[in-house]
Formats: sequence, C-alpha cells, structure tokens
Amino acid sequence: MSFQIVVHCIFCFVVCHAEMNAIMNKNSADVKDCTIYVALFPCNECAKLIIQSGIKEVNYIVRHYFSKI
Ligand SMILES: [Zn+2]
Repeated sequence: MSFQIVVHCIFCFVVCHAEMNAIMNKNSADVKDCTIYVALFPCNECAKLIIQSGIKEVNYIVRHYFSKI
C-alpha cells in the first residue's frame, strides 16, 4: 500500500526535523514505497531516515535554504 506524507515545516533545520517527525508519527505500519512532500530539501539526518524507511520519492519546493523562490 502506498500513501503520501506532506510536511509543511520550513524551519525543519532549526526547530526540529519535520521529515523525522512525520515518519515517526505515521498512521500506517510502514512508509515503504511512499512519496514524501516537503518544503525544503531534506537535511542529512532526515535524508538518512527517509532512505532507511523505504520512501521511494521525495518532492520538495526549494533546493537551497536561503534562496529566493
Ligand atoms: Zn531534517
């Protein structure tokens, strides 16, 4: 079964890791083969967790944290 995770925390790298929070508090047994939607390109720590959890696709809006959209 596949579903989507949507993360809307643009301050992930300062306050908390939004991707980590979304993966750890998911409403399913696992997120294997899922797609995650994030505002910013995931940080190194979240990237590791995304890979370990089996998420197959990451969609983000902004590549650089301080760029002008
Ligand atoms: Zn992070």
